[in-house]
Amino acid sequence: MAAMNAIRNIVILTGAGISAESGIDTFRSEGGLWEQHRVEDVATPEAFARDPDLVLRFYDMRRESIQTKLPNPAHEALARLDRQWTGGLLIVTQNVDDLHERAGARRVLHMHGEHLNAWCTACDTRSRWTGPLIDRPECPACRSRALRPDVVWFGEMPYRMDEIYRALREADLFVSIGTSGAVYPAAGLVQGARELGIATLELNLEPSQGSHWFQETRLGRASAIVPEWIDEMLNP
Ligand SMILES: [Zn+2]
Repeated sequence: MAAMNAIRNIVILTGAGISAESGIDTFRSEGGLWEQHRVEDVATPEAFARDPDLVLRFYDMRRESIQTKLPNPAHEALARLDRQWTGGLLIVTQNVDDLHERAGARRVLHMHGEHLNAWCTACDTRSRWTGPLIDRPECPACRSRALRPDVVWFGEMPYRMDEIYRALREADLFVSIGTSGAVYPAAGLVQGARELGIATLELNLEPSQGSHWFQETRLGRASAIVPEWIDEMLNP
C-alpha cells in the first residue's frame, strides 16, 4: 500500500466487529436472528407499521443495553487517531451505539443512525434520547407522539451518503474495520475507493466477502490490530 507518510486524508468505515468486543451483538446477516427475533420482525419499516409495540420494546431494550457497555481498545485507539491526526479524517460507522464518541472520537458519522436518538416522524426533528419510547412520549420540538428509533432499518436509505462520498474523493486511504463487506451501500465504499485509485486496507477478524477488493488485509481481533495500525500511522 501507499507509503504512510504520503497519506493526509483518511476515511475509516467501522462495523459490528469493533463493537462485538464490547459485548454488543448485532444481526449476523439479513435473515439472521437477533435476540430471538427475526430481522424482518423488528428492523424494517413494515414491522414497525405492523407491530409498533414489538419494535419499540425491542429498541428500548437495545437502547438500555448499550448504555451499560464500554468502549474497547479499538475505539480508544481510533479516538487517539482523531485527536492526533492533523489531516482529514472521517470515521463512518455502521454501528448505532455511541462507543466511538464515548471513547472520545469527534469526527464520526453514523450512516445507520443512533440508538440514543429519537426521530420525530411528524416534524423531522432528531432528539437525544436515552429512555424508552414504548409509552409514546412527546417530541420535545412539536409535542407530537410520533417518535421512532433513529435507526436505519433494512429497506431504508443510509444517512449522509453524499457527505461520505465527498470525504472519499478527498481521501488518500480508505480503511474498513470489522465489517462483513456484505451490506450495501457500505460494501460499495471500497469499490469506490478503488475506482478513485486510493489506498485500501481491511482490518477484520476473518477474511470478509469484500476482502478481494482491498490492497491489504490484516486479520485479528479489532482490539489488537486497530491499536497496532494506529501506532504505525501516528509514528511513521
Ligand atoms: Zn416533532
